[in-house]
Amino acid sequence: MASKPSALNQTTATAIPIAKASAEAAGPATPKPVSQGTGSGTVNMVQGAKATGVREEMEEREELGSFGIWMRDALRQTPSWLVSMVFHMILLLGLALYNMPAAGNDDDRTIDASQEEEKVLEELDELEDEPLDDIDLDEDFESFESTMETAVMDVSSADELEVEQFTPELQDFGTLKALPSDFMNKKGSVSGSGLDGRGHGKGGLVRRYGGNDASEAAVQLALKWLAAHQMPDGGWSFAHQLAPSCKGQCRNPGKETEARFAATALALLPFLGAGQTHKEGKYKDTVQGGFYFLTRNMKFEPGKPGGSLFDKQGGRMYSHGLGAIAMCELFAMTHDKNYQAPAQAVIDFICYAQDPVGGGWRYQPREKGDTSVVGWQIMALKSGHMAYLQVDPVTIQKAYRYLDSVQANSGANYGYTSPGEGPATTAIGLLCRMYLGWKKDNPALQRGVKWLSAQGPSKTNMYFNYYATQVLRHWEGDEWKKWNDVMRDQLVESQAKQGHEQGSWYVSGSHGDRGGRLYNTAMATMILEVYYRHMPIYGAQSVEEEFPE
Ligand SMILES: [Zn+2]
Repeated sequence: MASKPSALNQTTATAIPIAKASAEAAGPATPKPVSQGTGSGTVNMVQGAKATGVREEMEEREELGSFGIWMRDALRQTPSWLVSMVFHMILLLGLALYNMPAAGNDDDRTIDASQEEEKVLEELDELEDEPLDDIDLDEDFESFESTMETAVMDVSSADELEVEQFTPELQDFGTLKALPSDFMNKKGSVSGSGLDGRGHGKGGLVRRYGGNDASEAAVQLALKWLAAHQMPDGGWSFAHQLAPSCKGQCRNPGKETEARFAATALALLPFLGAGQTHKEGKYKDTVQGGFYFLTRNMKFEPGKPGGSLFDKQGGRMYSHGLGAIAMCELFAMTHDKNYQAPAQAVIDFICYAQDPVGGGWRYQPREKGDTSVVGWQIMALKSGHMAYLQVDPVTIQKAYRYLDSVQANSGANYGYTSPGEGPATTAIGLLCRMYLGWKKDNPALQRGVKWLSAQGPSKTNMYFNYYATQVLRHWEGDEWKKWNDVMRDQLVESQAKQGHEQGSWYVSGSHGDRGGRLYNTAMATMILEVYYRHMPIYGAQSVEEEFPE
């Protein structure tokens, strides 16, 4: 095997100072020790920081004005039973949003109608299966109010965080357990070099891998739209029309207005994909604001390892997975020590939240899994691994178990909570398999890729397109070229060209209505960043095969 990446050598050579994570100012000033679940070190999460400056105070008021007051007043002016009912309806709608991975309504497909009906019924069953009895009304209501309070919390910057010495264990996990894959090995797209395409060299990659000037121009316009819809508190909301610069000019707000962590993470990922961080690029302040929002709202609960970005009112483990990907990517790209503790904390929470029996993830921690939620968590673990964070090998082994449990056709297709052939779940399953070590000569992978290729890009399902595009991009070859030519031009053409909406996307159907224009724009942008966002897995592998292990 080739020599280890230099970043690893650097980090093992010296003890890394690690920042104490941000906490909210409302609590007592005494340190609250929180032990890391799988780590060798202990990170003290220190409450509160100093009073902030005038500018921050003004920002805080703006926060309350635009988002907090809106939600708080809405609550106060409504009878509590109605709030509760509406809340649970939204919750159910939310489940529908995040629950419908399959492309049911693609008008360019020829899928047997009876199959289609069966699939819809299956999905409805899955929705009904969602246990409502474990939702405590009072608890949910309380946490809703406490979320309001966080809007006026301390906005002290991560720069002020205290630093303590911490030496992470950075072994090569591949040698710890005889894993049947090389997820833990330092190579290709699952190692520290996987994000190298972002940044200065990406122009060459755009052309080499099938992008063009039009697709890059579309990405730039999209980033501009996303930046213009940032909220005053630094985060984003699926209710994008609430952003001060928009004031309702853009149509199609999403319905998941409480899922602010999910919205924020989704909006940040396209910036990171384009090489824009808080250290580099023209959107430094935008990116910085978004990550402040995530880190200062991260929850550390007694008895639970790690820190969570779990939106109780909306995306729940979806939000956490998306937030975790963003946090780990930022740390992987910048090596900014201030983000090491938060990034490790979100990974630890994913390991904790895994279903200990089936190996999956779902809305609530340790719940029996579904492929849609599983996809984001595995992407987050991969991002954590790329950042040289500690990922528990047992978690990865159990994730295999989950994928095995939902595979059909010997692993060419994947279902939602049981073996099946949904287009989106198949795309997710195959991408997870690629990241967890399946080689290009795996017959099931070959059949699965052919199946996806035959489906072609969807006109309405951005979720399916997002995952399938990544699978085919890693696969490369004729299947990729055929897919990309359609996908790329379809997105370039369908991007909004006029008014405040310029640079955004909206397609109704599937998740589109729930996440609205912000969700569609983030997903479409990441699809168009595919040429450089992740380096191809098998490109690295074919090089390494010349060095037998
Ligand atoms: Zn707008």
